[in-house]
Amino acid sequence: MAIDSSAKSSLEGIRTGSSPSDLKITDMRIAVVGKDNWRWPIIKLYTNQGLVGLGEVRDGASARYALMLKSRLLGENPCDIDRLFKKIKQFGGHGRLGGGVCGVEMALCDLAGKAFGVPAYMLAGGKYRDKIKVYADTPSKKDPEEMGKVLKDRMDQGFEFLKMDIGLWIAEPEEGGVVNRSIIQERANVMHPFTGIQVTDRGISKMVEYVETVRDIVGYEIPIASDHFGHMGVENCIRIGKALDRFTLAWYEDMIPWQYVDQWKQLKEGVDTPVCTGEDIYLREGFEPLVEAGAISIAHPDLATSGGILETKRIADLCYDAGIAVALHQAGSPVVAMANVHCAAAIDNFVALEMHSVDNPWWNDLVTVVGQDGPMIQNGFIKLPDAPGLGIELNEEAIEEHLNRNPDRFAAYPEGMFEPTDEWNELDAHDRVWS
Ligand SMILES: [Mg+2]
Repeated sequence: MAIDSSAKSSLEGIRTGSSPSDLKITDMRIAVVGKDNWRWPIIKLYTNQGLVGLGEVRDGASARYALMLKSRLLGENPCDIDRLFKKIKQFGGHGRLGGGVCGVEMALCDLAGKAFGVPAYMLAGGKYRDKIKVYADTPSKKDPEEMGKVLKDRMDQGFEFLKMDIGLWIAEPEEGGVVNRSIIQERANVMHPFTGIQVTDRGISKMVEYVETVRDIVGYEIPIASDHFGHMGVENCIRIGKALDRFTLAWYEDMIPWQYVDQWKQLKEGVDTPVCTGEDIYLREGFEPLVEAGAISIAHPDLATSGGILETKRIADLCYDAGIAVALHQAGSPVVAMANVHCAAAIDNFVALEMHSVDNPWWNDLVTVVGQDGPMIQNGFIKLPDAPGLGIELNEEAIEEHLNRNPDRFAAYPEGMFEPTDEWNELDAHDRVWS
């Protein structure tokens, strides 16, 4: 039977409110939110149909990394996520350099979801869970009892997964705790194998005492991950790791730089606690050497560096096949946090999503989750929204109030709130990376 146009519009459940095939990107604007050295450039991608997509450049990265992509996106259909990602991914890189490409990818997913009328997690293959476990990173306290109490407070707030720092700073004040202690500050930007810093048995026993005190207070009910050990070679990391294995921590994070695959393998084989890295790695091919070598127990991509929602799902699938779990690193505003929530929902081998803003009183004010009441994080979890796209709306008043205008370091660019960016409209390069 032929279907005429009137019958077509009456077909049950077919959306006629948007025309995804005719959707075009018309503008990109940015507002840099944050406090002190925390900078979160929030992206708006505008379209010819009134839909606006939200994304966010990696915390601490330049908004220019996204703005340089504007001329490559104007006139494009945001629903062509895969094609556009291939077009722009040459302009990203490891660490903060991935921030622009990833921020745009989130905004494309937000737009495509809104155009199709589906939540972003459905673009990544659908969900494995309805709420996402958040793990709270917790600022260090010199006194282990104080640290234990802060972690216990987090548990009382409902968090079921925590992280703490265990570093050279515990061993260093002890006389004879660290070899080469005078150069710790000076070598802060030197990669671990090259600092010449070593920790002694005495230093390690201070670290053991510290963790023992914390564990005595916090107990063993929930997982506690560990990070920021300090810049020393893999042999020292193994000695520390072996000494701390008895506290059954969830993982040792970034003990050495992710680039040294053979040393990661050595570390993994040398300790009995899971080892974890990935927050600075760009794209699936960046993770492949570590995964293929079986050199990590847990991959830890930051979605705002690793390639956005769909690429991070591909990284997770690669890990799944190798029996590697995935925790998500995240240190941004609620915009990037929600992009992570959608991605986490679609990852079978997901463990927990990082949160750095538990103590920030205005963090939750920046957005409203469509169809939900109260703060985004409740009892240590974020509920998966069902609204189209990322399922959030910006609270513009709060955004304006918290624009980062810190003049001391990294003056924010752009300074204003979603102001015109016409100077980024013109393409002036030949982009092809093959001939
Ligand atoms: Mg870390």
